[in-house]
Amino acid sequence: MPYILFLILNLLVFETVAFSEPQQDQEKRGKAVVSLSDEDLRSTETASEKIKKDGNQNITPTILIVGGGGSHDFDRWFNLEDSKILTEAGANVRYTDQPKNILAVLDELDILYLSNNQPLPDPELRQSIFDFVESGNDLLLVHAAIWYNWNDWAAYNQKLVGGGSRSHGPYGEFKVQVVDPNHPVMESVPATFTIKDELYRFEKDREGSDIHVLAKGIEPDTGEEYPVAWTVDYGKGQIVCITLGHDGESHHHEAYRTILKNSIKWLSDN
Ligand SMILES: [Zn+2]
Repeated sequence: MPYILFLILNLLVFETVAFSEPQQDQEKRGKAVVSLSDEDLRSTETASEKIKKDGNQNITPTILIVGGGGSHDFDRWFNLEDSKILTEAGANVRYTDQPKNILAVLDELDILYLSNNQPLPDPELRQSIFDFVESGNDLLLVHAAIWYNWNDWAAYNQKLVGGGSRSHGPYGEFKVQVVDPNHPVMESVPATFTIKDELYRFEKDREGSDIHVLAKGIEPDTGEEYPVAWTVDYGKGQIVCITLGHDGESHHHEAYRTILKNSIKWLSDN
């Protein structure tokens, strides 16, 4: 058969296997892979590599998700769930909860995705993250990574986040409104939606980087509004910040999943 037909058939067979299997099987497979190693970087999927082999020319950004710290099930939501979302969107995704692993692979990454609230104390790592963005690579900062986590690293919040959060409303439902529906990160996101999460009371740092707000959350008890998604330009790189993501109520929420996928696509394209 002609080679091109062979490639198309291969792709069809692969897609059937990769994207149609029952949820239960996907979760089992994810857990089985993760259990191979606690210390090393964990590759939770190989779908994007298979797509590459099958000749698909879509952009395949290489992403490292960093988790770890308190108050959250980082492995369940930021490793297993978000890795699956981003892999299915075409990214080459790895996860670690060991800060010492970041420097070893930083040069290979297009996007560094921080969700952690554990410290990143190594001065070389801190400088390397700034160099990474200044030279044109991108950051995705989600939920706990937008807290004021580190008193000894003010530049992180000031320059990369544009501020931070020191409190949040009680865990529960609140409304989110898209502020810039024309921005690619908001594509296909409903103009308003309800989500169960912690609404971070984000405080803009007046001395910090400018932020471009994409969506805001409204605190039900007070009516106060806080950004839940925004972008920051820093150096030659770009940053998307998302305060949503406390647990599965967000990671399974269609709007969160769409924002996450749009973010990596937009960061890769720009
Ligand atoms: Zn949380």
